[in-house]
Amino acid sequence: MSMQSTDSAGLRRNRRAALDVVIVGGGVVGACLALALLRDGRRVALVESRIEPPWQPTSPDLRVYALAPDSLALLDELGIGSALRYARCQPYQAMRVWDAAGGDALAFDAHSLGRDALGAIVEHSLLVETLWTALRQQAAFTAHVPATVSGLEQDAAGVEVTLADGTRLRAALAVAADGADSVLRGLAGIEVDRHDYGQRGLVGYVESERSHENTAWQRFLPGGPLAVLPFADAVDNTPAALRGRRSSFVWTLPNSEAERLSTLPGAEFSREITRAFDARLGELRLLSAIASFPLRRQLAQRYVAGRVVLVGDAAHAVHPLAGQGVNLGLRDVACLRRILAGAEFSELGEPRRLARYARERRSENAVAAWSFDGINRLFSNDAVLPALLRGPVLGLVSKLEPLRRLLAQRALGG
Ligand SMILES: Cc1cc2nc3c(=O)[nH]c(=O)nc-3n(C[C@H](O)[C@H](O)[C@H](O)COP(=O)(O)OP(=O)(O)OC[C@H]3O[C@@H](n4cnc5c(N)ncnc54)[C@H](O)[C@@H]3O)c2cc1C
Repeated sequence: MSMQSTDSAGLRRNRRAALDVVIVGGGVVGACLALALLRDGRRVALVESRIEPPWQPTSPDLRVYALAPDSLALLDELGIGSALRYARCQPYQAMRVWDAAGGDALAFDAHSLGRDALGAIVEHSLLVETLWTALRQQAAFTAHVPATVSGLEQDAAGVEVTLADGTRLRAALAVAADGADSVLRGLAGIEVDRHDYGQRGLVGYVESERSHENTAWQRFLPGGPLAVLPFADAVDNTPAALRGRRSSFVWTLPNSEAERLSTLPGAEFSREITRAFDARLGELRLLSAIASFPLRRQLAQRYVAGRVVLVGDAAHAVHPLAGQGVNLGLRDVACLRRILAGAEFSELGEPRRLARYARERRSENAVAAWSFDGINRLFSNDAVLPALLRGPVLGLVSKLEPLRRLLAQRALGG
């Protein structure tokens, strides 16, 4: 544990100059939390180690998120939903999940659930840029970019985060939103339980022969699931011939297979992904570079250490098969915001208040992480028994209306 010596008198002396909250990590979750707290009248500093490359309309970001309706509602409430929709955002109205070994498919439709859409696909860099544009318009906001954290001190009076350039930021609360390898989490002495899946997620864009039908598709294969997600036609630059046929993909594969596929020439990769997707939308043609991410399940043993709180991937990294990573992080944001609402400066770091946040979020995130784990084990497996179980499991879920609705409700953030 690398928590340094405390200096209560110093922290108390500087209390008037102190911020309400210092957030380390300005990705989607950290930036969203900063904006939410600023909207509630807090003074917030955000520390981010890297300057995010600007969103480029003509060159879509390879990383996209399938945002659930509750995440979209939060972004709307924070006033950035319309900017996202204006730039590029693809609602999807249906979801189809099936297994390569056969059996029934699981289907969800927005209409039958009384909704306009099941969610929307948004690029990472667009989301981050839109959040930061809104943040920079707030008077009570300070940004430290590029900057990294090198030290942490805390006591009953407050917390002090030291940056590598020597800047000291004093606040009532420090939030670690610096991702799965969080430095602030380490400085606060919080350990994680980690499991490496031995799989990677390949991401990129394909053009399909037939329309994607505004549907999020997922086919389970023995090596891991292949998701094909409808991608928006840019108003200005999508060639007419590509409209409704461009999708992003997230393909989970064992490490060695991911490495082989990501170095194939485009035409060969296109053949492989078409076959893996069972030509469900006709031929798929690779349109972009391919990026690859290692996959792990990682759960922090605690969400709170004194005045340090974890959110997003700093607290939990989950398998991407359900596309829920960012949605869970945004639910952390909504929960922490609710729990801090109305608190005086002196009440922001109250142990009981922070324990409530930890209780609420740890249980939901752990259930999600272990459920995705179980699904991955059952489906990414070519042993006979799991293969025999998969079709009936999907069939059972698709036929039992209350169970199907319950699953849909959970995925939609209800
Ligand atoms: C292949 C793949 C596909 C995915 N698809 C989806 C999906 O469809 N839907 C979904 O919801 N989720 C998806 N996820 C998960 C999603 O990417 C993560 O859950 C999400 O990025 C977590 O956001 P975050 O802001 O908590 O962390 P991060 O995105 O990791 O952001 C952390 C930020 O902190 C900064 N930082 C790091 N260290 C420091 C430091 N020491 N000091 C200052 N700043 C620092 C980083 O630069 C970064 O900006 C996917 C993940 C993978 C791997």
